[in-house]
Amino acid sequence: MYKWLELPLQAVLKDPSQLAHALLIRGPRGIGKQAFGMALAQGLLCEKPVPGGLACGTCSSCGWFATGAHPDFRVLAPPTDSDPAAEGEEAGPKTKASPWISIEQVRELHDFINVSSHRGGRKVIVVSPAEALNVAAANALLKNLEEPPAQTHFLLISHRPHRLMRTIISRCRQLALHEPDRALALSWLAGQGIKDAEVALAQASGAPLLAQAMIENNELSGRNDLLRAIASPDFDPLAVAESLRDLPLERFINWLQKWTCDIVEQRMLGRIRYNPDLSRELAIIAKRVEPLSALRLHRKLVREQRNIHHPLNARLYMESVLFAYAAMVNPSRRAA
Ligand SMILES: [Zn+2]
Repeated sequence: MYKWLELPLQAVLKDPSQLAHALLIRGPRGIGKQAFGMALAQGLLCEKPVPGGLACGTCSSCGWFATGAHPDFRVLAPPTDSDPAAEGEEAGPKTKASPWISIEQVRELHDFINVSSHRGGRKVIVVSPAEALNVAAANALLKNLEEPPAQTHFLLISHRPHRLMRTIISRCRQLALHEPDRALALSWLAGQGIKDAEVALAQASGAPLLAQAMIENNELSGRNDLLRAIASPDFDPLAVAESLRDLPLERFINWLQKWTCDIVEQRMLGRIRYNPDLSRELAIIAKRVEPLSALRLHRKLVREQRNIHHPLNARLYMESVLFAYAAMVNPSRRAA
């Protein structure tokens, strides 16, 4: 288990008899909620838990669990080519047949829930990510949550709990998990063989698994060139857009959105969040801009990041954003 999740896990497993039959495990993406849910499930199913409640790792139940074949355990996840229990939402790109958990999948739980457990103990169902339940599936699951079978635990995992039906949320006890503090996250990343992870961790809002995926997938490639280019107030938007020909649009918007956030925060609060390696450049730009126009551009980018899947001419879009940004950092251009 990730070091930063050990205490919350022990707290829940200390006295499982107090555990609600439905638990909503929520928190930012990339902090290990999936692994937490699996470790909790294993602890609940373990036949000889160690003092403190964690799974022993050696009993026959733990053996079944490790092979993914525990008869009293189910995972509800969108259909994938790979094993959702092992990969989960944290692990980066994968091929998905459908992004949704279907009503058929929930219905298939019926027998599992209504027959007594194979091992004579608890039954556990992990739903991950819970926001992947479509409306019909959520309603079907709700029936189970409303009339909870004895000794049965639902563990719903979500980084977007606002997308869940209120009726689902109201049936769950909530457990909020958080990102570790920066030093712990960096030391964990170093332990994974990732050095100099400060920028990735900042770009990932402190979520270590997300930072790890960013680095392993080379997702920050080109960021430095773009941001250093536009850190100069006299940059040429057309030339910069030309240099970005091969950059995926979502990365462009994502970096610019975080960059403008840093400009606004530097200007208004004297701190930055996402680009610690460029703090000097940000401090200089922040002095030049009008806070409201920076905020406006930032909000526009946040909105457009959400709608990134709409068809868009990437080149024209990048040019228009870069012109708007150029006018913001160098108001004399507007008159020209
Ligand atoms: Zn065990």
